[in-house]
Amino acid sequence: MITDNLQEVKNRIEEAALKSGRAPESVRLVAVTKTVPVEKIRQAKEAGAVIFGENRVQEALEKIDRLGNDGIHWHFIGHLQKNKVKHVVGRFDLIHSVDSVDLARMIHTKSVEQGRVTPVLIQVNISGEASKSGVAPEALEALLQAASELKGIRVEGLMTIPPFDPDPEKSRSFFSALRQLRDKIAKSGIEGISLDELSMGMSHDFTVAIEEGATLVRVGTAIFGERISAK
Ligand SMILES: *Cc1c(COP(=O)(O)O)cnc(C)c1O
Repeated sequence: MITDNLQEVKNRIEEAALKSGRAPESVRLVAVTKTVPVEKIRQAKEAGAVIFGENRVQEALEKIDRLGNDGIHWHFIGHLQKNKVKHVVGRFDLIHSVDSVDLARMIHTKSVEQGRVTPVLIQVNISGEASKSGVAPEALEALLQAASELKGIRVEGLMTIPPFDPDPEKSRSFFSALRQLRDKIAKSGIEGISLDELSMGMSHDFTVAIEEGATLVRVGTAIFGERISAK
């Protein structure tokens, strides 16, 4: 079941990439494992999943303790509370959800203490929905300027979550808006910052996200089935 689903998702990633003239390897799959038990994550690993995404710190750390890091990568994709930063630095290969200078600075400080550089993405609230995390598009450049001074983090790109709509075409304008914002800021070339990664697209809209430039798609339900508890 998980093996078949994973293969199906990989096939669709490849198709969407080829359809838009991109190399399939330019898109990486983050298998979102929140609420998914360790046994099922292990199955996905055996079936060839390499990157796992979690959105709750405590739950994620328990899973990392049990499954380890051998041949797999863990990404933190959820809203990160400042009091959890100390638990996250050093445990995840990429944090997708940095959305303020304060949070960036805290990750930087903790990383420097540990003698490491933490790769991060900046989460952008591209739709402007009040309920969504993420920096406002107008504030992104200033955040990136500030982040470029912080040697304990390395910005690798942007992430967004559009408003949920079951019709994937409804997500397209938000994905293209993030790409265009990236292109615009990349042109001004902020020192020490890369904006190569675009983390966008979930189970229902990842093919559209790929057509609009996604390099990381975060897919849970399409691999593991419906989650019992929401979020
Ligand atoms: C849960 C979650 C996903 C995956 O959602 P699915 O619809 O199950 O694919 C992706 N990104 C984030 C930030 C999430 O919290």
